[in-house]
Amino acid sequence: MPKRILLKLSGEALTQAGERGVEPKALKDIAQEIKSAVKTKCQLAIVIGGGNIWRGVRDGGGIINRVNSDNMGMMATIINALALQSALEDAGVPTRVLTSINVYQLAEPFIRRKAIRHLEKGRVVIFAGGTGNPFFTTDSAAALRASEIKADLVLKATQVDGVYDSDPKKNPKAKLIKKITYEDAIKKGLKFMDTAALALCLENKFPLCVFNLHKKGNIKLAVSGKKIGTTIY
Ligand code: UDP
Repeated sequence: MPKRILLKLSGEALTQAGERGVEPKALKDIAQEIKSAVKTKCQLAIVIGGGNIWRGVRDGGGIINRVNSDNMGMMATIINALALQSALEDAGVPTRVLTSINVYQLAEPFIRRKAIRHLEKGRVVIFAGGTGNPFFTTDSAAALRASEIKADLVLKATQVDGVYDSDPKKNPKAKLIKKITYEDAIKKGLKFMDTAALALCLENKFPLCVFNLHKKGNIKLAVSGKKIGTTIY
């Protein structure tokens, strides 16, 4: 049976570093990366973030209440999902968007069995709308959906090479950790996912690979089970 993999992509994957919105070239590039990854015959589900458009706490600015602001963030993930779907279809990759916030005209509602059926038929499934609840993040959605579809492997594509012992953007001597258990990562207070997401990962113990999104070919290497970046187990 092909491996079932859940890939968490931040909204930043759809834009240029430091920019906001959706950038066509970034979109095209990521679609090509995903296309070459699915050629390995894995079953691939993607949880897409929304931070390139709206992040609840950051962008609410104390004016928009937290619940509305988070709801706006979840809607941003739907915008990204539609953009990614379009780019993947352009690249010849069959895709379905399943969303936890119902927008019937645009995408299918999230139904676990439906998601699994699409994966079995070789379609890339894009999970939109996060968990469908405010006060969470799309990292939590990734951990939740990975648990529901019984993913063999979870991949988190990030801006840096993996998990470091301190912030590599602030500390040039920060060391990349190649392999660590969930228990040790929590004990050391390593920040690669929020606490709610980490709690679910710890319970399900799926192998998690955190790797650099910006290195060409990395998604394919990660889905092929190559030990790039950091493995948490
Ligand atoms: N969000 C939410 N519940 C969820 C997932 C996301 O309320 O289950 C909101 C939250 O405001 C978050 C925003 O959607 O800031 C965008 O998601 P996230 O920050 O996880 O996107 P990423 O950083 O991965 O692009």
